[in-house]
Amino acid sequence: NPHRCSVIIVGAGISGISAAKVLAENGVDDVVILEATDKIGGRIRKEEFCGVTVELGAGWIAGVGGKQSNPVWELAHQSNLRTFLSDYSNARYNIYDDSGKIYPSGIAADTYKKAVDSAIQKLKSQEANIDTAESSILSETTPTQKTPIELAIDFILHDFEMAEVEPISTYVDFGEREYLVADDRGYEYLLYKMTESFLYTSEGKILDSRLHLNKVVRELQHSRNGVSVKTEDGSIYEASYVILSVSIGVLQSHLISFVPPLPRWKTEAIQNCEVMVYTKIFLKFPYKFWPCGPDKEFFIYAHHRRGYYTFWQQMENAYPGSNILVVTLTNEESKRIEAQTDGETMKEAMEVLRNMFGTEIPDAIDILVPRWWNNRFQRGSYTNYPIYVNRQLLHNIKAPVERIFFTGEHTSEKFSGYVHGGLLSGIETSKALVEEMRKANDKKNEGQALV
Ligand code: FAD
Repeated sequence: NPHRCSVIIVGAGISGISAAKVLAENGVDDVVILEATDKIGGRIRKEEFCGVTVELGAGWIAGVGGKQSNPVWELAHQSNLRTFLSDYSNARYNIYDDSGKIYPSGIAADTYKKAVDSAIQKLKSQEANIDTAESSILSETTPTQKTPIELAIDFILHDFEMAEVEPISTYVDFGEREYLVADDRGYEYLLYKMTESFLYTSEGKILDSRLHLNKVVRELQHSRNGVSVKTEDGSIYEASYVILSVSIGVLQSHLISFVPPLPRWKTEAIQNCEVMVYTKIFLKFPYKFWPCGPDKEFFIYAHHRRGYYTFWQQMENAYPGSNILVVTLTNEESKRIEAQTDGETMKEAMEVLRNMFGTEIPDAIDILVPRWWNNRFQRGSYTNYPIYVNRQLLHNIKAPVERIFFTGEHTSEKFSGYVHGGLLSGIETSKALVEEMRKANDKKNEGQALV
């Protein structure tokens, strides 16, 4: 027998949970949340690693200290989440070459300034061309004939943030500070906190029968009258509406088949979206051999191959005595290491570290490699819209198809790629759906009045 309700929410990441919360606040309680994995959180996910809670997905609350208050920061405050201010700007003064020498600060500052100026130039020309460009997905081509330090700076500028190049809504609206979450309860605690107001929870566990875990949605039938959703285990759910919060990578992957198929304007927009892969590799050591201190949180390895174990973070500020280093890889490098064994990755990382710190440093004793690209419920880390994004593309990504409403970080016009983008998109989508339900109800009442 199919399970019937008013609204099905597919996915229990931050956007699905915030969408459910807004529905509940508007009196729509007859909801079912279908989540493919065995827990809520999605790309907010902690794991125990050598006695420490590490964040495999979102790690920072980005955008704090500005004109407006970031809703994720507010939640963190209410939850007393343990956070630490991170200062990325120091990274460029801790750049190592492959013989272990740190580049003089003057060279680093000059190279950085040049890279920023050239990025601004490039953006200006994109801005000028944007009206004529068919598709504004302008992927970053691998620069050729750059020196290792230029490549390293290019990597931190383009694969991390462009804040110095162009105003980014997150920093403009919410402020430029970023806080690292380092709490045993995990970043995901914020989601549990959110659910307390509308789902039945006890001792930190969600016991509400409206949350269905381990339900992988595989088919979505839709018409003008309603939706029917089939899961991998053969369950069927019927509802008047569905809110689909799965990532753009999942939508590109055809995990879910739509009957009838989604219209072309929608599938084209989905296929045109660029997905970024961002991988934090955790390495545990028997003791510290890297410099510590407030301005040494990040360090950079300059190599002739762009993005090759470039960006390093030491966890001493957040977890003193943990002896953990994190190295971040992106895109093609992420895909490459996802395909190899963790032992091979550890070997490569050790070689890089020995180039920086000498041959006598100890071997890592453990490694953790998240695989966001090969995770069939993610297929990447977040959307990577260009700064001058094609408005039509964004509109089409977000726009509902009959009774299917779309939400998730990828539908956030201003804050895509961020936790607050997911949270705010869930609110926005639910508000639009509540409005739609009101209209439909008014129409029905009018019809009845006429009869
Ligand atoms: P998701 O969290 O992906 O939620 C979608 C849910 O749908 C998932 O739980 C998934 O399991 C489920 N699902 C998928 N397919 C199905 C299916 N077929 N049936 C049922 N359920 C399904 N943001 C920041 O603000 N700061 C950061 O520091 C930061 N760092 C990041 C680092 C990494 C490595 C990653 C991966 C992301 C990072 N982000 C960061 C981005 C942030 O995590 C996301 O923008 C946000 O969590 C996305 O939320 P969402 O609800 O849109 O999607």
